[in-house]
Amino acid sequence: MDYKDLADLIFPDSKEISYYEEKYPKRDLKEGAIVTRFAPSPTGFVHIGGLYQSLIAKKLANQTEGVFFLRIEDTDQKREVENGVTDIVNSLKDFGLEPDEGMISETEEKGNYGPYKQSKRKDIYQAYAKYLIEQGKAYPCFCTPEEGEEIRKKQEEAKIRPGYYGVWAKCRHLTVEEMVEKIKNGEKYIIRFKSPGREDKKIKHKDVIKGNVEFPENDQDIVIIKADGLPTYHFAHAVDDHLMGTTHVIRGDEWLSSVPLHLQLFHELGFKPPKYAHIAPIMKNDNGNKRKLSKRKDPEAAVSYYEEQGIPKEAVKEYLLNIANSTFENWRRANPDKSIEEFQLQLNKMSVSGALFDMVKLLDVGKTVISKFTAEKVYEEALKWAKRHDEELEKVLEDKDYSLKVFAIERGNKKPRKDIAKWSDVKENIEYMYDELFYSKDQYYPYQIINNKEEIEKILTLYMEKYYDDNDDKQGWFDKIKELSGELGYAKEVKEFKENPGKYTAHVGDVSTVLRVALTSRTNTPDMYEIMKVLGKDKIEERFKKAIEELK
Ligand code: GLU
Repeated sequence: MDYKDLADLIFPDSKEISYYEEKYPKRDLKEGAIVTRFAPSPTGFVHIGGLYQSLIAKKLANQTEGVFFLRIEDTDQKREVENGVTDIVNSLKDFGLEPDEGMISETEEKGNYGPYKQSKRKDIYQAYAKYLIEQGKAYPCFCTPEEGEEIRKKQEEAKIRPGYYGVWAKCRHLTVEEMVEKIKNGEKYIIRFKSPGREDKKIKHKDVIKGNVEFPENDQDIVIIKADGLPTYHFAHAVDDHLMGTTHVIRGDEWLSSVPLHLQLFHELGFKPPKYAHIAPIMKNDNGNKRKLSKRKDPEAAVSYYEEQGIPKEAVKEYLLNIANSTFENWRRANPDKSIEEFQLQLNKMSVSGALFDMVKLLDVGKTVISKFTAEKVYEEALKWAKRHDEELEKVLEDKDYSLKVFAIERGNKKPRKDIAKWSDVKENIEYMYDELFYSKDQYYPYQIINNKEEIEKILTLYMEKYYDDNDDKQGWFDKIKELSGELGYAKEVKEFKENPGKYTAHVGDVSTVLRVALTSRTNTPDMYEIMKVLGKDKIEERFKKAIEELK
């Protein structure tokens, strides 16, 4: 009886690994191409950290003409939820981060290195586990959960390192005959890796992001195939990333301490290890304490939050690049109009400790991003968002021609207005442009310097009777407001007002404010000339009438 007999007994139907090695040949890519992946578990929650990882992975693959693929790690079937894969696929799609290969829906995939869902790769893992058993590098373990618990207790009492290793690894010391007998007797078992490592030895490793790290060697005989026949994360990682030709494993830094085990697995399996890049998590400042963005406490941890708020995907990606590479900010300053696709991301410039997530900054990026959109794009995006989240807004946006004029106000200028950070801001920003919204609320007219009722009425009435002309160009329009001011005894120029203290009670700017407040019930709006143009005479007249009524 030898290891081969044992392996055949455990996995009688497995193929030789040479079958898989031929089926998934080395990728034919140019020198330096990065093959990398996003490998989430379908647990029903897509974390912003996953999007961050995918953005980085996809960008590096694109920059090097490599491959970015999506692998679904569903070996822990207890944690699975319905439509978990769809959620992930859709989140990536929403942000323009579609993979080159991998899952494209709950059940479909594309690419030549699949299946890309681990539960569909059982045969592959078993073939490699068999290969290890044949060489005496893995073995069946018959310990029951109770025995495991007993070992743990003893270790705790003796104050020694927990785990299944060395003398504690009971089943590692069975003879092949004993193992075969137990199996034939129907005893239940799992498969463990026989670690060749020693805890008192160190391994040095260079992580692409974290730099040089040193760890004790792994000496744990970890489980590689569980009772349900599926692999553990560690074993699946080694087999999959080998067969799928991954050059760079970009993943969360909670896995950094597993590197000694992973390198060992690659070595014992006879695989060339990939490069590892461990990303620090996105952090949050919580009352002065830095902590990880938490699924439970922070709504912004969920990718769905950004869609709900209507923060444009362009802004989210731009912001994530900002926290990924400190060089991004300078690049953006030097190239304000370039697409983020042109920025060259560098893995070795990523922060070693977690970058802070700053909502204020993200919304600021949102304002800049939206200020550069065309009126058409703002319209389309706002409408798309409204359809999902705001019926009232959707309704007023039905008038496309009018809405395009509204969104064109002060757009395309050299210094466009930055007043919309997210689609959920749109309504508040434009409500005075739509009668349905404007009149549905009780208006509050915050008149400023000129706030005397008779004066306000005089200004509004005289303006409409004598000065307003729909055909005026901007200069003509403003000259008329000056004339109006002069006629009512206000300074026609601000300069004149300042040079003659005591002579005037207010100036042309204050008269404009009266018009603005009566028209929009705000003191601060975009260009009033443009607003009047879009509203047109009838609406202006109606609004002034209402404003005058409100004075009484
Ligand atoms: N499924 C693992 C996780 O979600 C993947 C880690 C990796 O990228 O290898 O943490």
